[in-house]
Amino acid sequence: MHVRILGSAAGGRFPQWNCGCGNCVAARENKPTRKFTAKPRTQAQLALSSDGSRWFLAGASPDLAFQIEAAPELHPRALRDSPIAGVVLASADLDHVIGLLLLRELQPLRVYAAPSILRILRDENSMFGMLNRIEPQVVWTPMTAGAPFPLQDAAGNDCEVSCEAIFLSNRFPKYVKSKIQNEEARTASAALFFQAKSPKSSAVKSVAYIPAVEKLDNELLAKIEGVDVLLLDGTFWSNDELIRIQGNGETAHQMGHIPVEESLRLLKNTKVGRRIYMHINNTNPILNEESPEHRAARAAGWEVAEDSWHLEL
Ligand SMILES: [Zn+2]
Repeated sequence: MHVRILGSAAGGRFPQWNCGCGNCVAARENKPTRKFTAKPRTQAQLALSSDGSRWFLAGASPDLAFQIEAAPELHPRALRDSPIAGVVLASADLDHVIGLLLLRELQPLRVYAAPSILRILRDENSMFGMLNRIEPQVVWTPMTAGAPFPLQDAAGNDCEVSCEAIFLSNRFPKYVKSKIQNEEARTASAALFFQAKSPKSSAVKSVAYIPAVEKLDNELLAKIEGVDVLLLDGTFWSNDELIRIQGNGETAHQMGHIPVEESLRLLKNTKVGRRIYMHINNTNPILNEESPEHRAARAAGWEVAEDSWHLEL
């Protein structure tokens, strides 16, 4: 399986346009020193493929057009064409769905999402109607939890990657109307588990993508055990990170993110192939490769995702 990390930052990118925190100021200066070295990052975006020719996106970030241009595997091979067969959505967060509007150039695609998220995008936000101006264009496909399903392109061809969703109780973004907030919060975000055969050995390889998770319960920990690659919520290092920097706001947990200092502890004894923090907020000290937090994560066996990483399993 091919996995491309097209973007690794949380919503707002790194540096963030209106942020003057220490990280963002130093990243803008772009002069690595012995105290601060960090690479700029675009918003979290993943692409996966079993054969390197048909690709699925996990999420659709606001930086998607640039991220596609930066990845030659995703370029068209004919006058009107895309190797991108579809998109799997883990949440309705703006930085996870806005990129769909950038894919409106009449290309057939299949989009998988929880039924609640399909309602939010299609019934409550008329702009997404641009994805259904002609036939065939976007085929919206409800995603249920608890069993793997084969990822198909818009025409129904199997792309040889399977996906299983585990819904995580979380809250919908604030733009979502209260009726859905109350009725369907159970499906507000998902952990996505992808599987495909390795081209080298025909062994089945697995990737867990969990960009927003508030708590790692035993069910989720058991599901993570043994995956070849874990891409986990690395939004904040500590629970009060934003409050300390801004002087107000919400905790990481209130925003639906487990802090890295907690997940480091909880996953200490969980066996996985590669463990990688992704969806990293610009305030997270882990972005600075010279920081004690970055060193602590590396010493615990974690990697800190960067844009343009290509993993082959
Ligand atoms: Zn910042």
